[in-house]
Amino acid sequence: MCLICDRIEMIKKGANPYFVKELDTGYAVIGDNQHFYGYTLFLYKHHGKITELFHLDADERAKFMEEMTLVAEAANNAFGAEKMNYELLGMGDAHLHWHLYPRRTGDIENYGSHGKGPVWWYPMEKMYSDDCRPTESELADMKARLLKELDALTEKRGK
Ligand SMILES: [Zn+2]
Repeated sequence: MCLICDRIEMIKKGANPYFVKELDTGYAVIGDNQHFYGYTLFLYKHHGKITELFHLDADERAKFMEEMTLVAEAANNAFGAEKMNYELLGMGDAHLHWHLYPRRTGDIENYGSHGKGPVWWYPMEKMYSDDCRPTESELADMKARLLKELDALTEKRGK
């Protein structure tokens, strides 16, 4: 079973505490660990044999990309980023899902190339430390911020 399919099942049952908003092609959720404050994911609704962007037909892909971009803009506005980072990987779970990271100078300390580089040059054990899990009230605050921005952007685009 796929972890992301599991999380989506939890969303459908109203039992996923990280869930923020459903869009046409996917679900916006707050990341479990928040070393990169505002780390947000956008989970594609379907899995099965779909594991690559090129498995989507052109219209669906365009919509998925547009909605991912909207979630990234909302995260940028909600959490304040110097630069958004976008990743679609999938060697852990092949289910299409975007990692959206608000980045700020110094957020990987002196790792990487003298503090510059992708999030995964920061040590995994630090990035996924329990110390980086939001408290219940921090999570509630993050969800409210992201939802507010998502609603504002979707309204602006007339959805
Ligand atoms: Zn899946």
